[in-house]
Amino acid sequence: MKSIIVAIDGPAGAGKSTVAKRLAKKLGYTYMDTGAMYRAFALKAARDGIDLENEDALRSALAATNIELYEDARGPKVILDGRDVAGEIRTPELSQAASKVSALKAVRERMVELQRAMGARGGIVAEGRDIGTVVFPKAEVKVFLTAGPDERARRRFAELKGNGKEVTLEETVAEMEQRDRRDREREHAPLRQAEDVIGIDSTGMSVDEIVEQIMKEIKKKTT
Ligand code: C5P
Repeated sequence: MKSIIVAIDGPAGAGKSTVAKRLAKKLGYTYMDTGAMYRAFALKAARDGIDLENEDALRSALAATNIELYEDARGPKVILDGRDVAGEIRTPELSQAASKVSALKAVRERMVELQRAMGARGGIVAEGRDIGTVVFPKAEVKVFLTAGPDERARRRFAELKGNGKEVTLEETVAEMEQRDRRDREREHAPLRQAEDVIGIDSTGMSVDEIVEQIMKEIKKKTT
């Protein structure tokens, strides 16, 4: 079977991670969580006390930052300067901070460079906001996954609760709306659908149904 690139984009809470991980496993491909990279860089900026509006300071920090993604038997790892930070980056604060730093051109350019190097040989399922439009515009299968606002907020809320975070549903809705607006309205690589994309509204669909629908498209491109 031919090794291809599968791009999954969409707003927060649309189910991208669950679907992308499932697809990668089914195909024996590498799962690439590009949001985790922006989160890891935001974590570094927060630790170093860098003002998220200070582009010069962020640019210098970026030059001294290395971020790698890989997976072992215990799950995906996000290595920031040699240390796994996967367990620290899924907080509402870092969601917001990631959305802020990801609006900067210098940050995006560096992350895209790392992502392209990781995906050079194909055989990946990458999820994010700009995978089909910017990172891998030639990806063989592009999906734009979305869901109604209530369902997205409920999913995100359940995920945060599951990680032991003290948040209310109202806070989750507000955080998500603000972040999605910023991601859609930013100048560089805004969240938008690529032209040759398969749009899936996952409201009311099971994960199996979404995965099945995407697998049909993948089969068309690989057989
Ligand atoms: O996907 P996740 O919610 O972990 O992403 C966190 C933030 O990182 C997003 O809100 C977005 O601002 C940014 N991001 C991005 N481009 C990507 C992936 C994530 O700008 N490809």
